[in-house]
Amino acid sequence: MHRRSAMTALAGMTALASVLTGCGVIGGQSADLQIYSARHYDLEGAFGQFTEETGITVEFISGDDAELLERLKAEGDDTPADVFMTVDAGNLWNGARQDELAPISSTVLDEAVPDDLRDAEGRWYGLALRARTVTYNPGSVDPSEFDAVETYAGLADPKWKGRLCMRDATSAYTQSLVAGLIDLHGRERALEIVEGWVANDVAIMSNDILLLEAIDAGTCDVGINNHYYLARTLEENPDLDVDLYWASQEGAGTHVNISGAGVVKGSDNPEDAQRLIEWLATDGQNAFVDANHEFPVNPAVQPEPVIAAFGDFTRMPLNAEAYGSLNAEAVDLLAEAGYR
Ligand code: FE
Repeated sequence: MHRRSAMTALAGMTALASVLTGCGVIGGQSADLQIYSARHYDLEGAFGQFTEETGITVEFISGDDAELLERLKAEGDDTPADVFMTVDAGNLWNGARQDELAPISSTVLDEAVPDDLRDAEGRWYGLALRARTVTYNPGSVDPSEFDAVETYAGLADPKWKGRLCMRDATSAYTQSLVAGLIDLHGRERALEIVEGWVANDVAIMSNDILLLEAIDAGTCDVGINNHYYLARTLEENPDLDVDLYWASQEGAGTHVNISGAGVVKGSDNPEDAQRLIEWLATDGQNAFVDANHEFPVNPAVQPEPVIAAFGDFTRMPLNAEAYGSLNAEAVDLLAEAGYR
């Protein structure tokens, strides 16, 4: 068991400490489990509940995915970390590829998490599902205008000129969406699609909330958003003039991504680490995903009411390897298309 506090761990890592965005402790200064987390959404609630139910105390250190992965590599077997938690499937795939995650065998997880949302070798498991789909202003768009087969590609049609808002090219959300398009259509066609968005004078937004506000204000008619930002914004302002359209329902399905976790290879407490991941995928699913309006990965668990109101949808199967291995190609393609 670990007897190092998060602050001690930070002090020992001065070079990296400056890039970390914060740390938190649940259950005292010498917790049983140390979690390196790139997930910033209301972690305390779920982890606190886990500690209450199991007696296993949890400490977490936050940073972004790349920083935390670098830190794991630098620390090697001496790492205080037991669990690595990320957003974006490509980052989970990367953690496994760089040999920082231990394979585990768990019937609980095999039953709770669909095949495509977990690593075949048990090195990582998706725990929360987010959809990146089309949002629009119902005052200026009729949903029948969307291409129901290839909705993302359809936004390259000249009829959307001057009407589009999307996220910046540096966002992992944009990069994984484009990696998904390369995986689905091949590079040449994916480039045509992104060039079509650029030709439509797409307005680039630096975050998903600003994007929703621009649609609400009528600055743009259509955008692409992670569904939970709409749920969050609607909760604050039920009169928001933004509706959600489930993309590509008559085609390949809506693009999704996951937030998930794996047991760190250098963990001194892999049993409790596995128990935490199993809990998050089962009894703790609602506590973990609802606070951020995400979809449970576990099909036996119901989504919370705000997102349930968005209606059922068919998702594209998740190809974590494509999101990870095609990331550099996606970044390159975005630059080539002049997408900022
Ligand atoms: Fe987000």
